[in-house]
Amino acid sequence: MSTGGHKIKVVCRVRPFLGSEKPDHAVSVESGRVLRVTNPRDSTKDIRYNFDACYGSEAAQEAIYKNDVRPLVETVFSGMSATVFCYGVTGAGKTHTIQGTESAPGIIPRALEHIFKHKERDAVDYDIRVSYFEIYKEAVFDLLKPRDATGALPIREDGNRKIFVAGLSEKQVLSYEQFDQLYQRACGNRRTASTKLNHHSSRSHAILTVQVKWRDDVGEGRVWCGKLHLIDLAGSEDNRRTDNSGRDRMAESSAINRSLFVLGQVVEALNTGATRIPYRDSKMTRILQDSLGGECLGMMIVNVAPGEFFLQDTQNTLNFATRSREV
Ligand code: ADP
Ligand code: MG
Repeated sequence: MSTGGHKIKVVCRVRPFLGSEKPDHAVSVESGRVLRVTNPRDSTKDIRYNFDACYGSEAAQEAIYKNDVRPLVETVFSGMSATVFCYGVTGAGKTHTIQGTESAPGIIPRALEHIFKHKERDAVDYDIRVSYFEIYKEAVFDLLKPRDATGALPIREDGNRKIFVAGLSEKQVLSYEQFDQLYQRACGNRRTASTKLNHHSSRSHAILTVQVKWRDDVGEGRVWCGKLHLIDLAGSEDNRRTDNSGRDRMAESSAINRSLFVLGQVVEALNTGATRIPYRDSKMTRILQDSLGGECLGMMIVNVAPGEFFLQDTQNTLNFATRSREV
């Protein structure tokens, strides 16, 4: 039996080579929808992967936003929920895609600018609130509060069986500038640890939620509420490769691998119309339960590096992503 909901779109993005990298291509975008992975020994054994969209190293931040993300942001103004994830190994371009830089802003600043443009343009009194938290070793931490000021937050269910993070701050933001200040400060509260692959590799999932609420001025004034979740997932790298020895790193890695695995299963279940969606099997999918599937729009951006050095990681990533897409 199908849930009848929307499928989660899966798009792929290949980042450019960095100055420090040997430019030996392992992947190329063959068309707007097909990614080709080169077999270094035998080109007749190249593998092709299909996506809803495929972006090569030359793709601008703006292109991804306009084509694929903007329509999701727009649904918030119909009182719906939408979710965007970036999935990939450390160094593949997740943070660049979701957050970006000052000169090449990513999804978060573009989405928020879009939302505030609506506020200026529409004759509606939108109440815009932001929360930002990370999930680290299956524990939830508020990023809008100074690091270590609060402990892990519990997940609860209210009287209407809605899941929420108890005690999580929700800050009202009146302008883009106010949002940006809050967000920049919050980013500094993220937990990072050095690994062999990337000095500031992110070992936690960071979830930014923007809630837009308003009241109709017709009839008895129905209240509308749209939600947008923008998520920078923890690196999906194979533990053996990154040399994560020591108990802390191991505990991190198994929590990360498990929650990514569950996320993949949830996406796969939604996209194949399975009856049982395993939302309850990880903290992240539990919290996002109301915003994944059903009438909600979702998209997973699969980030990969272009080079041979990442080939094994890239193949793991693509196998995960294709399973999630399963058409
Ligand atoms: P991740 O968050 O997946 O670990 P990052 O987003 O930090 O990866 O990207 C790794 C490096 O590659 C960073 O130096 C980033 O600036 C650069 N990078 C990633 N994607 C792009 C892109 N599309 N264009 C230019 N530079 C990129
Ligand atoms: Mg990152």
